[in-house]
Amino acid sequence: MPTKPKRPCSYPGCPNLTDGQYCADHVAIARRQYNKYERSPDINKKYGRAWKRIRDRHISQHPLCEVCEKNGRLVPAEEVHHKKPISQGGTHARENLMSLCRSCHTKIHHEIGDR
Ligand SMILES: [Zn+2]
Ligand SMILES: [Zn+2]
Ligand SMILES: [Zn+2]
Repeated sequence: MPTKPKRPCSYPGCPNLTDGQYCADHVAIARRQYNKYERSPDINKKYGRAWKRIRDRHISQHPLCEVCEKNGRLVPAEEVHHKKPISQGGTHARENLMSLCRSCHTKIHHEIGDR
């Protein structure tokens, strides 16, 4: 029986032939690129998969930016900040979290010199 004709790998510029969509070298790369559009790999990598759920819950319990609220402004929170960064041993525990609007969050990270 003749085998199915192979076709070139769909990865741009790759000369390898394959009977799937991508050659063996590119299957994993193509899948990783696809995932980039599905979810945010940075956040998953940094905080783990449970983080999005914890963050959504924190925002629903603390829907206003805590910094703006202290200054008398009611601004909806868009992001959740770790008071003690995960990289320094912080946790997702509620007392380590802070609801912030995007601009306060950016400012805090500028102040602590990390982004
Ligand atoms: Zn390839
Ligand atoms: Zn704010
Ligand atoms: Zn933060």
